[in-house]
Amino acid sequence: MKLRALVVGLAAAALTLTACGQSGSPGGSSGGPVVSEAPAAGVQVPDSATFAAMQQRGRVVIGVKDDQPGLGFKDATTGEYSGFDIEIARLVAAKLGYGTDKIDYKTVPSAAREDAISRGEVDYYVGTYTINDNRKKRVSFAGPYFVAGQGLLVRSDETAITGKDTLKGKKVCSVTGSTPIQRVRDQGLTEPENIVEFQTYTQCVDQLLSKQVDAVTTDDAILKGYAAQQPDKLKVVGETFSTEPYGIGLNHDDAALRNKINDILQASYDDGTWQKIYDNTLGKSGSPASPPALQRY
Ligand code: GLU
Repeated sequence: MKLRALVVGLAAAALTLTACGQSGSPGGSSGGPVVSEAPAAGVQVPDSATFAAMQQRGRVVIGVKDDQPGLGFKDATTGEYSGFDIEIARLVAAKLGYGTDKIDYKTVPSAAREDAISRGEVDYYVGTYTINDNRKKRVSFAGPYFVAGQGLLVRSDETAITGKDTLKGKKVCSVTGSTPIQRVRDQGLTEPENIVEFQTYTQCVDQLLSKQVDAVTTDDAILKGYAAQQPDKLKVVGETFSTEPYGIGLNHDDAALRNKINDILQASYDDGTWQKIYDNTLGKSGSPASPPALQRY
């Protein structure tokens, strides 16, 4: 609760800064979409059961995160969604024929993604979702549309934790069903009893601020977003220690929609739209990046 209030306050401050021409927030808050694509007309995706369901509904349901600043974030005051993942999700929707007024966002935490997608509760999912073989058994992925790496977030006065090999004896928080928590376990980075897990990274960050844990671990892109919200209290430390290619999660058997979304992504890589989205969201708190090569299958 406290964090949310702070986040909102800081986001408002960041908006003011942006208005003065000094961008500081990672895609911070509202301000409307970076790219306002008119919805494409007459789109057809033959053989896609998901697309047929969207057409019947007249709306698209997109699975997202809503508490990851710069990536997928819902402003508590305005109800507006913002961030890199949200912009990618909106771009795909527009190219499929659905404007922002035809999108329903559904918040799905890391641990529930495969279930939500395979049960058809969302048409597609855009939320820091790493493509891997284990997940490909239950869902499929378009992309990648970004590549992150696992990192560490600590309190700004922390000196003992400087990288993944300094975590022994420290309490480390991450999210249920995420690749980073699995890696902490698999690599024995800290003792099993020192691994703390929650449904969301916001809960981990709250635990870090209240000194219940010593570090939060997940993708650097996510951690940088939290650090940018409270730079006096939080910092990202050490080298990244994994490769996390972000994909758009889709029904396992809907190859037609996967191919279509890959075409949409490739076009945005080629025409500069991806770059514009990145530079105006994640790029504000991160380093420069260019689009990754798609892994079509
Ligand atoms: N990219 C990682 C994953 O897909 C961590 C971020 C997340 O939990 O969404 O598990």
